[in-house]
Amino acid sequence: MQFSSELLENAVNEFARLPGIGKKTALRLVLHLLKTETEKVESFGEAIVRMRQEIKFCQRCFNVSDTDICAICSNPLRKQNLICVVESIRDVIAIESTQQFSGTYHILGGIISPLDGIGPDQLNIEALVQRIKNDQPEEVIFALNPNIQGDTTIYYIQKKLASLPVKVTTIARGISFGGELEYADEMTLARSISNRLPVESYVSNR
Ligand SMILES: [Zn+2]
Repeated sequence: MQFSSELLENAVNEFARLPGIGKKTALRLVLHLLKTETEKVESFGEAIVRMRQEIKFCQRCFNVSDTDICAICSNPLRKQNLICVVESIRDVIAIESTQQFSGTYHILGGIISPLDGIGPDQLNIEALVQRIKNDQPEEVIFALNPNIQGDTTIYYIQKKLASLPVKVTTIARGISFGGELEYADEMTLARSISNRLPVESYVSNR
């Protein structure tokens, strides 16, 4: 691609760094911005910069938040004695979209995957164990994707929780997830949360 402007070329290259955006799409987006009023482009840029600079992670559940403790953790209507353990913020968004879950979350920030060099220490696992020790919730629900990494992660954490008086369950499996929680339709996801199973029976059946 040949550009007559270095400014244009830089903008296209920046957009093309984003996942799923090729050079052609990047050019289309940049040309669109070029036609857009300057103030609108400024607020677009400002929203991105502010999001990156100012966003926080909840000190309790590691969800994205504008405050130290997120809106879910600080909501008195949410069941604080029910913790749903998920891999990422995208899973929280998917489960919240079902409007069927009234507990809280704990975001691991990934799953154990030795082939990718991700071990337990790189995830928010120790914080979860401490949270369970301190807050003594009634139940912990694992809502991880049904694959080897997900199972390994559940197994590892479950062992850490074995001596604690907490019920440990996992969302129902055997439902077509399409690989990722976020792609499950809302009804399916809501059903798999309400049909959850004790982790012991799940692990021993595999
Ligand atoms: Zn939180």
